[in-house]
Amino acid sequence: MNFVTRFAPSPTGLLHLGHAWSALLAWRRARELGGRFILRIEDIDTGRCKPAFEPAMLEDLTWLGLDWDGPVRRQSDHFDDFDAVLNTLRDEGLAYPCFCTRRQIEAEVAASQSAPHGLLGLIYPGTCRSLDETERLERLAAGENHAWRLDAGLAAARAGPLTWQEDGRGVVEVDPLVGGDVVLARKDTPSSYHVAVTHDDHLQGITHIIRGEDLHPSTHVHRLLQALMCWSEPVYTHHGLLRDDQGKRFAKRDRALTLRSLREAGLTPEEVIAMAETLAERDSAVS
Ligand code: GLU
Repeated sequence: MNFVTRFAPSPTGLLHLGHAWSALLAWRRARELGGRFILRIEDIDTGRCKPAFEPAMLEDLTWLGLDWDGPVRRQSDHFDDFDAVLNTLRDEGLAYPCFCTRRQIEAEVAASQSAPHGLLGLIYPGTCRSLDETERLERLAAGENHAWRLDAGLAAARAGPLTWQEDGRGVVEVDPLVGGDVVLARKDTPSSYHVAVTHDDHLQGITHIIRGEDLHPSTHVHRLLQALMCWSEPVYTHHGLLRDDQGKRFAKRDRALTLRSLREAGLTPEEVIAMAETLAERDSAVS
């Protein structure tokens, strides 16, 4: 069986126990099935990502006993690839420039009765979708700050009904409007997570995506982009997130449970893995 999976952390901090669990699930599956396990650094958000975390992540994964196949792909080296995706969507009439500031969007959403707040956060009210072409061109020519957004309604109509395969759990119906007109690119971040991740999953021939359930809502957007770009469809697993004793999921701000701090506290890789397994079992027992 052709099995290619990946672990795709963003270097915004050190890896914590939750990351280790996600990486381990994907790595184990690849090794069990004689497949490939790829490591990708998702650092397109150059404001939040710090280059120093990248070698630290690689070192921590190696310490844990994980190895990966082929070179590590660093997304910030490939902005041109993501730009090409944006161009395709623009050429197809599926992307439009949005000149709204975050504050304007928040004010508009607050003023509207329905206050649309989706699974992916604030739903853009669509203000710039209806700008006429002349105004768009004038504002672009004047160099006004803008983002590019997906016209999700049009994209959904173009793509038709979509589903994805959730490994071992059957078929999930895609709600293409779950995130509304999501951002595809910004001035300061010339690609969005959604564009970069789907592009690279396709480019790297990822057949199985194993990642935390916090990204389940994003998968609706990813399936839509895959369909629009005629990219192949991976099988997904969204695993439960490890939680602390208060039931809060681990985050990069929880310094105590970074792999680095556990290792410095004298734990062995086997003990760290056992700790992650215990937490995962505890959570699946209560859910
Ligand atoms: N880079 C994303 C993160 O660190 C994960 C992307 C993915 O697995 O699809 O949250």
